[in-house]
Amino acid sequence: MKILAITNQKGGVGKTTTCVNLAASLAHHGKKVLLVDLDPQGNASTGSGIDKAHLTHSIYHVLLNDKTLQEVIVHSEQGGFDVAPSNRELAGAEVELVNEMARETRLKQAIAKLGDAYDYVLLDCPPALNLVTVNALTAANSVMIPMQCEYYALEGLSDLVNTIKKVRAHLNPVLEIEGLLRTMFDNRNMLASQVSSQLVSHFGKKVYQTVIPRNIRLAEAPSYGMPVLVYDKASKGAMAYLELANEIIHTKQ
Ligand code: ATP
Ligand code: MG
Repeated sequence: MKILAITNQKGGVGKTTTCVNLAASLAHHGKKVLLVDLDPQGNASTGSGIDKAHLTHSIYHVLLNDKTLQEVIVHSEQGGFDVAPSNRELAGAEVELVNEMARETRLKQAIAKLGDAYDYVLLDCPPALNLVTVNALTAANSVMIPMQCEYYALEGLSDLVNTIKKVRAHLNPVLEIEGLLRTMFDNRNMLASQVSSQLVSHFGKKVYQTVIPRNIRLAEAPSYGMPVLVYDKASKGAMAYLELANEIIHTKQ
């Protein structure tokens, strides 16, 4: 079972879009996938077709040890994967966990109880380096960092890398950065192409070969509660995420 944290404290870089569409694409390749929504915005839940307003239980209850993951997991019919959903309630977890024991390892313990039920567990992190993100980094084997190829792309990356180093030193020695994913890429944009080449020359093999293009279908699909693979399987966005799933299955173990 591979546990991948999809994280970047910068907002709107394509974390959730990547989680939902990578989950659907891995499922399409026959893999058993669980998507864990760790953002109080609940966008990964909505984008997977789950009505976050009417959840009786969510990942919030798992982090507070009120429920097991199995008890909150629902199935995304559209996506063909399972989801541990989230909603606004999760915003309170940060404060409520402060005085709790082993607060950084709550998610890790919860995932351990799943045994080998899944091939891939994808963790959709909020845009913050908070306790919930630390839980994700503590539970994960590796990290995927989606980023837009723009002038400020690398700003903030050192904070994330430092957090990863601290988690590795104190909570999760096996944690590694699997790769940087270029998202919303527009190859007609000169600056994007330059930043992209710089990323590759700096980080080499740590940059996924697959590039996710800017594609309107990817932005439209969540409002129908569908991964793009269901909404428009011939779109460039759908093809790119299938290719990313392929790259992960075959080259990243
Ligand atoms: P947050 O930090 O708020 O959680 P995020 O990093 O999860 O944001 P997304 O929600 O995935 O980012 O994407 C931000 C916006 O960009 C959304 O409206 C999404 O539909 C759109 N978007 C993401 N990827 C693409 C793409 N490749 N092409 C076009 N639009 C995209
Ligand atoms: Mg998000």
